[in-house]
Amino acid sequence: RAWAPTVSQPPESLLKPLTVPHKLLMGAGPSNCSPRVLAAGKVPMLGHRQPETIEIMDEVQKGLRYLFQTHNEWTFAISATGNGAMEATVVNLLEPGETALVCANGMWGHRFAGMVEQNDCVAKIIVRPFGEVFNIEEIEKGLREHKPSIVFVVYGESSAGTVQPLEGIGELCHRYNALLVVDAVAILGGAPLFTDDWDIDVIYGATQKCMSAPPSLSPITFSQRARDKIASRKKPIRSYYFNAPAIADHWGCDGRSRGFHHTEMVTNVYMLRESLAIFAEEGLEKVWKSHRDCAQLLHQGLEHLGLEFLKVRNPCVTTVIVPDGVSRKDVSDYAMRHYRIDIPGGVPDMVDKVWRIGIMGYNSKAENIKLTLKAFSEALSSVQKKST
Ligand code: PMP
Repeated sequence: RAWAPTVSQPPESLLKPLTVPHKLLMGAGPSNCSPRVLAAGKVPMLGHRQPETIEIMDEVQKGLRYLFQTHNEWTFAISATGNGAMEATVVNLLEPGETALVCANGMWGHRFAGMVEQNDCVAKIIVRPFGEVFNIEEIEKGLREHKPSIVFVVYGESSAGTVQPLEGIGELCHRYNALLVVDAVAILGGAPLFTDDWDIDVIYGATQKCMSAPPSLSPITFSQRARDKIASRKKPIRSYYFNAPAIADHWGCDGRSRGFHHTEMVTNVYMLRESLAIFAEEGLEKVWKSHRDCAQLLHQGLEHLGLEFLKVRNPCVTTVIVPDGVSRKDVSDYAMRHYRIDIPGGVPDMVDKVWRIGIMGYNSKAENIKLTLKAFSEALSSVQKKST
Protein backbone atom coordinates (compact mmCIF):
# COMPACT_ATOMS: atom_id res chain seq x y z
CA ARG A 1 0.00 0.00 0.00
CA ALA A 2 1.40 3.39 -1.04
CA TRP A 3 1.98 5.57 2.00
CA ALA A 4 0.24 8.67 0.72
CA PRO A 5 -2.57 9.80 3.00
CA THR A 6 -4.71 12.50 1.47
CA VAL A 7 -6.01 15.40 3.49
CA SER A 8 -9.77 15.56 3.74
CA GLN A 9 -11.65 18.69 2.64
CA PRO A 10 -12.04 21.46 5.25
CA PRO A 11 -15.63 21.85 6.44
CA GLU A 12 -17.48 24.33 4.19
CA SER A 13 -19.31 25.85 7.14
CA LEU A 14 -16.04 27.09 8.58
CA LEU A 15 -15.22 28.99 5.40
CA LYS A 16 -18.10 31.39 6.13
CA PRO A 17 -17.66 34.25 8.62
CA LEU A 18 -18.76 33.66 12.20
CA THR A 19 -22.21 35.12 12.73
CA VAL A 20 -23.83 35.47 16.12
CA PRO A 21 -26.92 37.67 16.35
CA HIS A 22 -27.54 39.96 19.28
CA LYS A 23 -30.23 38.66 21.63
CA LEU A 24 -31.38 39.98 24.97
CA LEU A 25 -30.86 37.08 27.37
CA MET A 26 -33.62 37.37 29.96
CA GLY A 27 -33.47 33.77 31.17
CA ALA A 28 -31.76 32.33 34.24
CA GLY A 29 -28.31 32.72 32.69
CA PRO A 30 -26.10 33.26 30.89
CA SER A 31 -26.83 36.99 30.82
CA ASN A 32 -25.48 39.38 28.21
CA CYS A 33 -21.87 40.29 28.88
CA SER A 34 -21.21 43.91 29.64
CA PRO A 35 -19.36 45.61 26.74
CA ARG A 36 -16.50 46.44 29.07
CA VAL A 37 -16.10 42.76 29.90
CA LEU A 38 -16.23 41.81 26.22
CA ALA A 39 -13.59 44.42 25.40
CA ALA A 40 -11.26 42.76 27.91
CA GLY A 41 -11.48 39.62 25.77
CA LYS A 42 -9.55 41.41 23.04
CA VAL A 43 -6.50 42.52 25.01
CA PRO A 44 -3.17 40.76 24.27
CA MET A 45 -2.62 37.23 25.47
CA LEU A 46 0.00 36.83 28.15
CA GLY A 47 1.25 33.74 29.90
CA HIS A 48 -0.12 33.10 33.35
CA ARG A 49 3.29 33.58 34.93
CA GLN A 50 3.89 37.03 33.43
CA PRO A 51 4.04 39.67 36.18
CA GLU A 52 1.16 41.60 34.59
CA THR A 53 -1.10 38.54 34.70
CA ILE A 54 -0.14 37.84 38.30
CA GLU A 55 -1.04 41.40 39.22
CA ILE A 56 -4.42 40.99 37.52
CA MET A 57 -5.00 37.69 39.35
CA ASP A 58 -4.27 39.51 42.62
CA GLU A 59 -6.80 42.18 41.68
CA VAL A 60 -9.34 39.48 40.90
CA GLN A 61 -8.85 37.94 44.34
CA LYS A 62 -9.38 41.31 46.02
CA GLY A 63 -12.50 41.87 43.90
CA LEU A 64 -13.84 38.43 44.78
CA ARG A 65 -13.30 39.05 48.49
CA TYR A 66 -15.37 42.22 48.07
CA LEU A 67 -18.07 40.39 46.11
CA PHE A 68 -18.27 37.56 48.66
CA GLN A 69 -17.81 39.99 51.59
CA THR A 70 -15.09 37.87 53.12
CA HIS A 71 -11.56 38.07 54.41
CA ASN A 72 -10.86 34.44 53.48
CA GLU A 73 -7.37 34.01 52.06
CA TRP A 74 -8.55 31.11 49.94
CA THR A 75 -10.69 33.13 47.56
CA PHE A 76 -10.12 32.48 43.88
CA ALA A 77 -11.73 31.36 40.64
CA ILE A 78 -11.86 27.76 39.55
CA SER A 79 -11.36 27.14 35.81
CA ALA A 80 -14.77 25.55 35.30
CA THR A 81 -18.43 26.53 35.28
CA GLY A 82 -20.63 26.20 38.37
CA ASN A 83 -20.90 22.42 38.17
CA GLY A 84 -17.11 22.30 38.46
CA ALA A 85 -17.15 24.39 41.63
CA MET A 86 -19.84 22.09 43.00
CA GLU A 87 -17.71 19.05 42.27
CA ALA A 88 -14.63 20.75 43.72
CA THR A 89 -16.53 21.35 46.95
CA VAL A 90 -17.51 17.70 47.22
CA VAL A 91 -14.09 16.22 46.45
CA ASN A 92 -12.22 18.56 48.79
CA LEU A 93 -14.52 18.61 51.80
CA LEU A 94 -15.70 15.02 51.94
CA GLU A 95 -13.86 11.76 52.44
CA PRO A 96 -15.40 8.43 51.40
CA GLY A 97 -18.06 7.35 53.88
CA GLU A 98 -18.78 10.84 55.20
CA THR A 99 -22.30 12.28 55.13
CA ALA A 100 -23.68 15.42 53.54
CA LEU A 101 -27.05 16.83 54.53
CA VAL A 102 -28.45 18.19 51.26
CA CYS A 103 -31.34 20.65 51.24
CA ALA A 104 -33.08 20.20 47.90
CA ASN A 105 -35.82 22.61 46.85
CA GLY A 106 -35.09 22.37 43.14
CA MET A 107 -32.72 20.56 40.82
CA TRP A 108 -29.39 21.78 42.22
CA GLY A 109 -29.66 20.02 45.56
CA HIS A 110 -30.23 16.75 43.72
CA ARG A 111 -27.26 17.47 41.45
CA PHE A 112 -25.07 18.02 44.52
CA ALA A 113 -26.37 14.84 46.16
CA GLY A 114 -25.50 12.90 43.00
CA MET A 115 -21.92 14.16 43.16
CA VAL A 116 -21.71 13.23 46.85
CA GLU A 117 -22.75 9.66 46.06
CA GLN A 118 -20.41 9.42 43.07
CA ASN A 119 -17.63 10.09 45.54
CA ASP A 120 -18.61 7.19 47.79
CA CYS A 121 -20.13 9.47 50.38
CA VAL A 122 -23.64 9.47 51.82
CA ALA A 123 -26.22 12.08 50.82
CA LYS A 124 -29.13 12.58 53.20
CA ILE A 125 -31.59 14.70 51.29
CA ILE A 126 -34.30 16.83 52.83
CA VAL A 127 -36.76 17.96 50.21
CA ARG A 128 -38.96 21.03 49.97
CA PRO A 129 -41.48 21.38 47.17
CA PHE A 130 -40.87 23.70 44.24
CA GLY A 131 -41.03 27.33 45.34
CA GLU A 132 -40.42 26.74 49.07
CA VAL A 133 -37.35 27.32 51.26
CA PHE A 134 -35.99 25.61 54.38
CA ASN A 135 -36.37 26.76 57.96
CA ILE A 136 -33.76 26.47 60.69
CA GLU A 137 -35.74 23.82 62.61
CA GLU A 138 -35.79 21.29 59.79
CA ILE A 139 -32.09 21.79 59.11
CA GLU A 140 -31.40 21.28 62.83
CA LYS A 141 -33.49 18.09 62.77
CA GLY A 142 -31.38 16.83 59.84
CA LEU A 143 -28.18 17.72 61.67
CA ARG A 144 -29.31 15.87 64.78
CA GLU A 145 -30.47 12.80 62.91
CA HIS A 146 -27.69 12.38 60.37
CA LYS A 147 -24.64 14.01 61.97
CA PRO A 148 -23.34 15.18 58.60
CA SER A 149 -19.89 16.62 57.94
CA ILE A 150 -21.38 19.25 55.64
CA VAL A 151 -24.73 20.88 54.96
CA PHE A 152 -25.55 22.05 51.45
CA VAL A 153 -28.06 24.78 50.58
CA VAL A 154 -28.74 26.77 47.43
CA TYR A 155 -28.94 30.53 48.02
CA GLY A 156 -30.63 31.38 44.70
CA GLU A 157 -32.40 28.28 43.36
CA SER A 158 -32.60 29.03 39.65
CA SER A 159 -34.84 26.09 38.78
CA ALA A 160 -37.58 27.37 41.10
CA GLY A 161 -36.68 31.04 41.60
CA THR A 162 -36.40 31.00 45.40
CA VAL A 163 -33.97 32.69 47.79
CA GLN A 164 -32.93 30.66 50.82
CA PRO A 165 -32.48 32.91 53.89
CA LEU A 166 -28.99 32.09 55.16
CA GLU A 167 -28.68 33.91 58.47
CA GLY A 168 -28.25 31.53 61.35
CA ILE A 169 -27.62 28.36 59.31
CA GLY A 170 -23.80 28.60 59.46
CA GLU A 171 -23.77 29.08 63.21
CA LEU A 172 -26.20 26.18 63.61
CA CYS A 173 -24.02 23.89 61.46
CA HIS A 174 -20.94 24.77 63.50
CA ARG A 175 -22.77 23.86 66.73
CA TYR A 176 -23.23 20.39 65.24
CA ASN A 177 -19.67 20.21 63.93
CA ALA A 178 -20.69 20.50 60.31
CA LEU A 179 -19.58 22.92 57.61
CA LEU A 180 -22.01 25.05 55.61
CA VAL A 181 -21.72 24.90 51.80
CA VAL A 182 -23.71 27.37 49.73
CA ASP A 183 -24.42 27.36 45.99
CA ALA A 184 -24.68 30.98 44.88
CA VAL A 185 -24.22 30.37 41.15
CA ALA A 186 -27.42 32.08 40.07
CA ILE A 187 -27.34 34.96 42.57
CA LEU A 188 -23.74 35.98 43.32
CA GLY A 189 -23.52 39.72 42.69
CA GLY A 190 -27.28 40.19 42.40
CA ALA A 191 -28.42 40.04 46.03
CA PRO A 192 -26.99 40.80 49.48
CA LEU A 193 -24.42 38.26 50.58
CA PHE A 194 -22.18 38.32 53.66
CA THR A 195 -19.99 35.23 53.66
CA ASP A 196 -18.12 35.99 56.89
CA ASP A 197 -21.04 37.43 58.83
CA TRP A 198 -23.25 34.51 57.81
CA ASP A 199 -20.60 31.93 58.85
CA ILE A 200 -20.48 30.27 55.44
CA ASP A 201 -17.62 27.78 54.99
CA VAL A 202 -17.60 27.27 51.24
CA ILE A 203 -19.58 29.33 48.76
CA TYR A 204 -19.25 29.43 45.02
CA GLY A 205 -20.75 31.30 42.08
CA ALA A 206 -20.23 31.49 38.33
CA THR A 207 -19.25 34.31 36.03
CA GLN A 208 -22.05 34.03 33.46
CA LYS A 209 -24.99 35.01 35.65
CA CYS A 210 -25.07 38.22 37.71
CA MET A 211 -21.42 38.93 36.90
CA SER A 212 -22.16 39.32 33.18
CA ALA A 213 -18.94 37.69 32.02
CA PRO A 214 -18.72 34.59 29.81
CA PRO A 215 -19.22 31.14 31.30
CA SER A 216 -15.79 29.77 32.19
CA LEU A 217 -14.77 30.55 35.76
CA SER A 218 -16.35 29.90 39.12
CA PRO A 219 -15.50 32.18 42.01
CA ILE A 220 -15.18 30.26 45.27
CA THR A 221 -14.08 30.98 48.83
CA PHE A 222 -13.10 28.70 51.76
CA SER A 223 -13.29 29.58 55.46
CA GLN A 224 -10.49 28.62 57.84
CA ARG A 225 -12.76 25.85 59.16
CA ALA A 226 -13.08 24.44 55.65
CA ARG A 227 -9.32 24.65 55.16
CA ASP A 228 -8.74 22.87 58.47
CA LYS A 229 -11.08 20.08 57.42
CA ILE A 230 -9.19 19.68 54.15
CA ALA A 231 -5.83 19.79 55.92
CA SER A 232 -6.89 17.05 58.33
CA ARG A 233 -8.03 14.61 55.62
CA LYS A 234 -6.87 11.05 56.12
CA LYS A 235 -7.20 10.17 52.44
CA PRO A 236 -5.93 12.26 49.52
CA ILE A 237 -8.28 14.46 47.50
CA ARG A 238 -9.61 12.37 44.62
CA SER A 239 -9.09 14.95 41.91
CA TYR A 240 -6.08 16.58 40.35
CA TYR A 241 -7.90 19.41 38.59
CA PHE A 242 -10.16 20.37 41.50
CA ASN A 243 -7.58 20.04 44.26
CA ALA A 244 -8.31 23.18 46.30
CA PRO A 245 -4.95 23.46 48.12
CA ALA A 246 -3.15 23.22 44.76
CA ILE A 247 -5.43 25.79 43.14
CA ALA A 248 -5.01 28.10 46.15
CA ASP A 249 -1.27 27.76 45.72
CA HIS A 250 -1.62 28.49 41.99
CA TRP A 251 -3.42 31.75 42.91
CA GLY A 252 -0.73 32.62 45.46
CA CYS A 253 -3.26 32.57 48.31
CA ASP A 254 -0.78 31.71 51.03
CA GLY A 255 1.73 34.35 49.97
CA ARG A 256 4.32 31.77 48.92
CA SER A 257 5.73 31.45 45.42
CA ARG A 258 3.02 30.13 43.12
CA GLY A 259 2.97 26.52 42.13
CA PHE A 260 2.04 25.47 38.60
CA HIS A 261 -1.32 23.75 38.61
CA HIS A 262 -2.77 24.40 35.14
CA THR A 263 -2.59 26.98 32.39
CA GLU A 264 -4.81 29.73 33.70
CA MET A 265 -7.71 30.89 31.50
CA VAL A 266 -5.94 34.20 31.18
CA THR A 267 -8.40 35.94 28.85
CA ASN A 268 -11.31 34.95 31.06
CA VAL A 269 -9.42 36.22 34.08
CA TYR A 270 -9.06 39.62 32.36
CA MET A 271 -12.78 39.60 31.68
CA LEU A 272 -13.54 38.63 35.26
CA ARG A 273 -11.29 41.47 36.41
CA GLU A 274 -13.43 43.92 34.45
CA SER A 275 -16.64 42.45 35.80
CA LEU A 276 -15.29 42.93 39.32
CA ALA A 277 -14.10 46.44 38.50
CA ILE A 278 -17.70 47.34 37.63
CA PHE A 279 -18.85 46.07 41.05
CA ALA A 280 -16.06 48.05 42.71
CA GLU A 281 -16.93 51.26 40.85
CA GLU A 282 -20.68 51.02 41.34
CA GLY A 283 -20.59 49.58 44.85
CA LEU A 284 -22.37 46.40 45.90
CA GLU A 285 -25.32 48.15 47.53
CA LYS A 286 -26.12 49.99 44.31
CA VAL A 287 -25.89 46.83 42.22
CA TRP A 288 -28.07 44.86 44.64
CA LYS A 289 -30.59 47.72 44.59
CA SER A 290 -30.74 47.79 40.81
CA HIS A 291 -31.62 44.08 40.81
CA ARG A 292 -34.25 44.65 43.50
CA ASP A 293 -35.77 47.64 41.70
CA CYS A 294 -35.91 45.76 38.40
CA ALA A 295 -37.53 42.79 40.11
CA GLN A 296 -40.16 45.10 41.59
CA LEU A 297 -40.84 46.62 38.18
CA LEU A 298 -41.10 43.17 36.64
CA HIS A 299 -43.42 41.90 39.36
CA GLN A 300 -45.73 44.93 39.03
CA GLY A 301 -45.84 44.42 35.28
CA LEU A 302 -46.58 40.71 35.61
CA GLU A 303 -49.40 41.45 38.05
CA HIS A 304 -50.77 43.99 35.62
CA LEU A 305 -50.79 41.30 32.92
CA GLY A 306 -52.68 39.03 35.30
CA LEU A 307 -49.83 36.52 35.43
CA GLU A 308 -49.13 34.41 38.47
CA PHE A 309 -45.55 34.17 39.68
CA LEU A 310 -43.69 32.89 42.72
CA LYS A 311 -43.50 35.69 45.26
CA VAL A 312 -40.33 34.66 47.03
CA ARG A 313 -38.36 37.87 46.69
CA ASN A 314 -35.65 36.47 44.46
CA PRO A 315 -34.40 39.54 42.62
CA CYS A 316 -32.47 37.46 40.07
CA VAL A 317 -34.91 34.80 38.84
CA THR A 318 -38.70 35.11 38.69
CA THR A 319 -40.74 32.02 37.93
CA VAL A 320 -43.95 32.84 36.06
CA ILE A 321 -46.70 30.23 35.89
CA VAL A 322 -47.92 29.49 32.35
CA PRO A 323 -51.69 30.15 32.40
CA ASP A 324 -54.08 27.36 31.38
CA GLY A 325 -54.63 27.20 27.66
CA VAL A 326 -51.46 29.13 26.81
CA SER A 327 -48.54 27.51 25.08
CA ARG A 328 -45.32 28.32 26.91
CA LYS A 329 -43.29 27.74 23.79
CA ASP A 330 -45.44 29.95 21.54
CA VAL A 331 -44.93 32.89 23.90
CA SER A 332 -41.17 32.29 24.10
CA ASP A 333 -41.02 31.96 20.30
CA TYR A 334 -42.97 35.18 19.80
CA ALA A 335 -40.62 37.12 22.09
CA MET A 336 -37.64 35.77 20.21
CA ARG A 337 -39.09 36.34 16.73
CA HIS A 338 -40.34 39.88 17.31
CA TYR A 339 -37.99 41.23 19.98
CA ARG A 340 -34.98 38.91 19.98
CA ILE A 341 -35.56 38.33 23.69
CA ASP A 342 -34.81 34.96 25.22
CA ILE A 343 -37.51 34.04 27.74
CA PRO A 344 -37.00 30.33 28.33
CA GLY A 345 -39.20 27.79 30.04
CA GLY A 346 -38.43 25.78 33.14
CA VAL A 347 -35.86 23.08 33.82
CA PRO A 348 -36.51 19.74 32.04
CA ASP A 349 -39.40 18.41 34.13
CA MET A 350 -41.05 21.86 34.32
CA VAL A 351 -40.18 23.06 30.85
CA ASP A 352 -43.67 24.06 29.68
CA LYS A 353 -45.17 24.85 33.07
CA VAL A 354 -43.24 28.08 33.74
CA TRP A 355 -41.15 30.82 32.20
CA ARG A 356 -38.07 31.85 34.09
CA ILE A 357 -37.15 35.51 33.78
CA GLY A 358 -33.67 36.42 34.87
CA ILE A 359 -32.54 39.84 36.04
CA MET A 360 -28.82 39.47 36.03
CA GLY A 361 -25.92 41.89 36.11
CA TYR A 362 -25.62 44.05 32.99
CA ASN A 363 -29.21 43.20 32.05
CA SER A 364 -30.69 44.59 35.26
CA LYS A 365 -31.94 47.80 33.69
CA ALA A 366 -35.48 49.20 33.66
CA GLU A 367 -35.47 49.43 29.84
CA ASN A 368 -34.87 45.67 29.55
CA ILE A 369 -37.67 44.90 31.97
CA LYS A 370 -40.08 47.19 30.12
CA LEU A 371 -39.18 45.58 26.79
CA THR A 372 -39.60 42.09 28.25
CA LEU A 373 -43.03 43.02 29.62
CA LYS A 374 -44.04 44.52 26.27
CA ALA A 375 -42.94 41.36 24.48
CA PHE A 376 -44.81 39.25 27.02
CA SER A 377 -48.00 41.27 26.75
CA GLU A 378 -48.01 41.17 22.94
CA ALA A 379 -47.04 37.52 22.83
CA LEU A 380 -49.82 36.56 25.23
CA SER A 381 -52.51 38.36 23.26
CA SER A 382 -51.22 36.98 19.97
CA VAL A 383 -51.11 33.43 21.32
CA GLN A 384 -54.52 33.74 23.03
CA LYS A 385 -56.07 35.20 19.84
CA LYS A 386 -54.71 32.26 17.87
CA SER A 387 -56.27 29.73 20.22
CA THR A 388 -59.77 31.37 20.29
N1 PMP B 1 -26.19 25.93 40.59
C1 PMP B 1 -27.17 26.77 40.19
C2 PMP B 1 -28.08 27.36 41.22
C3 PMP B 1 -27.33 27.08 38.84
O1 PMP B 1 -28.29 27.91 38.45
C4 PMP B 1 -26.43 26.50 37.89
C5 PMP B 1 -26.54 26.81 36.41
N2 PMP B 1 -27.76 27.15 35.94
C6 PMP B 1 -25.43 25.64 38.36
C7 PMP B 1 -25.34 25.39 39.71
C8 PMP B 1 -24.46 24.98 37.41
O2 PMP B 1 -23.65 25.93 36.84
P1 PMP B 1 -23.01 25.79 35.37
O3 PMP B 1 -24.12 25.63 34.41
O4 PMP B 1 -22.27 27.10 35.26
O5 PMP B 1 -22.08 24.61 35.39
